[in-house]
Order: sequence, then structure tokens, then C-alpha cells
Amino acid sequence: MEENRAEALRNELFMKNEHASKKITAEETAAADNFCEGYKDFLDAAKTEREAVKVTIELAKANGFIEFKADRKYAAGEKVYLNNRGKSVILAVIGSRDLEDGVKIAAAHIDSPRLDLKPNPLYEEADTALFKTHYYGGIKKYQWTAIPLSLHGVVIKKKGETVEINVGEDENDPCFVISDLLPHLASNQMKSTMSEGIKGEGLNVLVGSRPFDNTDAAQNVKLNVLSILFEKYGIMEEDFLSAELEIVPAFKARDIGFDRSLIGAYGHDDRVCAYPALMAALDTDTPEYTVLSVLTDKEETGSDGNTGLNSSYLKFFIYALADCQGAKGYKVLSNSKCLSADVNAAYDTNFPEVFEKNNTAFVNRGVVITKYTGARGKSGTSDASAEFMAEIRELLDRKNVCWQTGELGKVDEGGGGTVAKYVASLNMDVVDIGVAVISMHAPYETVSKIDVYMTYRACYEFFND
Ligand code: MN
Ligand code: MN
Repeated sequence: MEENRAEALRNELFMKNEHASKKITAEETAAADNFCEGYKDFLDAAKTEREAVKVTIELAKANGFIEFKADRKYAAGEKVYLNNRGKSVILAVIGSRDLEDGVKIAAAHIDSPRLDLKPNPLYEEADTALFKTHYYGGIKKYQWTAIPLSLHGVVIKKKGETVEINVGEDENDPCFVISDLLPHLASNQMKSTMSEGIKGEGLNVLVGSRPFDNTDAAQNVKLNVLSILFEKYGIMEEDFLSAELEIVPAFKARDIGFDRSLIGAYGHDDRVCAYPALMAALDTDTPEYTVLSVLTDKEETGSDGNTGLNSSYLKFFIYALADCQGAKGYKVLSNSKCLSADVNAAYDTNFPEVFEKNNTAFVNRGVVITKYTGARGKSGTSDASAEFMAEIRELLDRKNVCWQTGELGKVDEGGGGTVAKYVASLNMDVVDIGVAVISMHAPYETVSKIDVYMTYRACYEFFND
């Protein structure tokens, strides 16, 4: 008898933190796998913030979204998008309630750590042509050598013409590479720290090695590269000054594991939340509250800049929508709620020492709710309120969405931030939710398909509750 009582109490009182497969049906697992086929296509088609905006708007238009114009009233069920400079985008589905009751937002970022070309990138040395780069976001520099790389971005010519560049993704394209030292000659390099082994100024990308002609003229290999670029894109060396060209891994998204339960890809952080937020908006018809999916830029460098969430573009969009609907913008903001959808670190069996197991996310345990981020004494965090945490866990339980909680590693082990604090500065309730990632910020990151799907379901149920 006593044993049974203990067992009953154990079931009732203990928090259950277990593999999602214990809670979901085979059909739901199949739905997760199916959802992730679309996600993998998105990963391959949208490796940069500009490409993600382009793909998002194409999908939105195909699903009945029209460009937002601040010149009329919108009816419930209408769907609009706002393109902020081609690098961030807001999708909105108008709800049936008064806008002043607030909106529901899912915000994710579409920039990922990478190498940007410097404004004057091309040079020749020892009969090879190379690009100088400046890394963007938090990277471990040694991970970017000796892997195939592709080049994405735009060049804006002096008269305003835009040239789009995407080289290295098609299997018939050439790709690019950064050299690393052979072990035979690396005895000094191997003694240096991992942050010193490859230096920022050592991240130079090999882009050519044949001269333009057989004369002894200076910089003949560089001339050959420029000549190819001029022929293909009509650009000259000076045009690099007005360009945003990004070096990213040339890998495609692939299933990982014999059971195909995981996905390996570049830039899960944070397209693994952007895609669920996008799909949740596309699948929402006439919600009660107006819903917004915000896919933003510049999170990896601190959200500064006019396409990041430390700019006023989200606030101004809500003000503009409020004007259209005859509502007061500050009331809309103050009554709004947001899921800041971003990744968290997954427990890694190769590095158990940095995690505190009771407060760490694990792959396959569902969407992670992260109450606070920050570093040291919660510095730079938007700590979600107990009230909002209660609301979200009640919602996820009621809708059978598998969830877990997680903190970014042990106290004082490091830290990080998300867009949550910039959303919170608009006087909204906000909490971080998202996918647990293995090898976060590496050129090739790994996530669980079930977790991606549960993040979609969290966004969708939040929008449609
Ligand atoms: Mn992120
Ligand atoms: Mn990140």
C-alpha cells in the first residue's frame, strides 16, 4: 500500500522531463518529420538574412499576404507583410478583437554567424587571389578553415543597380576555402590557445590562382579574378565598397543518424525558430488577437542597426497598424505578448562539465522555455515574469505541446542574449522559447526534428488561442 502511495505521489508531484516520444504518437512523429522536409528546403534556399526575407515574402504572397499600406482599415482575416530594407520582415494576420487588446508576436532572427567580406577584400599574394573577411557574430575561427564555402549577397553599383551573387551552392558551381596548416608544420600553432590558433586576419578566402595572361605584369591573378567578375556581373573592384557579401558554409541540410531523427545544417540559429514562426503565421486564418511573425536581422551582433530589433521598426509598424485601425499605438504595445523564438544550448555528452543538468535543455524533449538569458548575475536579460511563464506552460500543456526548460549552461560559465530585452523595452510580456541546438554557432549545427515541430506547434497554438 505504502509503495503504491509513493508511486502515485511520484507521478503527481515530480516534474516530468523526458524524451518527447513518450508523450506523442507515431503520427505526430511522422508529422514532425514531414514538417522538417519543408524546413530543410528553407535552410538551403535562405542562408542569409536577405535570402530569408525573399523566400519568406514569396511564401507569404502564395498564402494570400499583401504588402502593408498604412492607408486603410484592415478587416479580420486580412494578411499583410512589411519588408524592412530586404533584411527583416514582419507578417501580420489581422484578428477579430480590438487591436488595443494587444497583438501576439513570435520574433526570431534570420542572420547567422558568418564571414563578411571587407569593403576592400580582393588581393593577390604568392600567385593566389584571396578575399579579406571580417567575421560576423560569435564564431570559433578554427572551425571555418578547410571546409567548402559559398559566397552570397548583393553589390549595389554606383547608379543603384543591384547585382545578386550566389556562388557555391549549386553542385556545378565552384566554391571557396580558407587554408589551415598541415599538422607536420603546426607544432607552434598546436601549442597556442584555440582562440589564437587561427586569427581574425587569417580568415582569408582562396578565390583564384591563374594569371590573366603570361606576362610578368603585377597582380595578374587578381586581374584574372576581376575580369571574370566583370564579365559575369559587370562589377569592378570599387563596387565591393557598396556591397554586402557573406561567406557561409557550402553544406546542404541533411538528416543525421540511422533513425534520421536529427538535422545537420548551417545556421539553425535561428532559422530553426524563424521557419516555425513563419509557418505558424501562414497557417493562421482569422485569429482572435492580431498575430505578428517578426523575422529580424542583426541579432548575432547585438540587434543594433535599422534592421535589428533595437531599431524602432517593429514599434513603428504597430503604430502604423494602430493608426489604420483607429487604435492607440501605446495601448497596443502595452497589451501585447511575445514569444522571443531563439535557440538554446542542448546538453552535449562530449562536454558535460559546462551544463547543470537540472536546468539544461536536451534534444528531443520539445520546445525549450528559457525564463532568462544574460551573463553572470543575469546581466542584460529580460527575465520573464512568473505570471507569463504560468500562462505559457498552461497553454502548452493544454495543447499537448512537448516542452522543457533550460538555462544557457552553468552559472558563470558564460552567457548570451536574445531579442527578448528589446521586445520587453516596448512594455510587452515576453519569454524566450525555441529549439535546443548541438554545436551552436558552428558551421554545421544539429537539431532534433521533433523539437523543430514542437516549436512550430508552440507558435501556432500561441497565435490561435
Ligand atoms: Mn539566436
Ligand atoms: Mn546565435
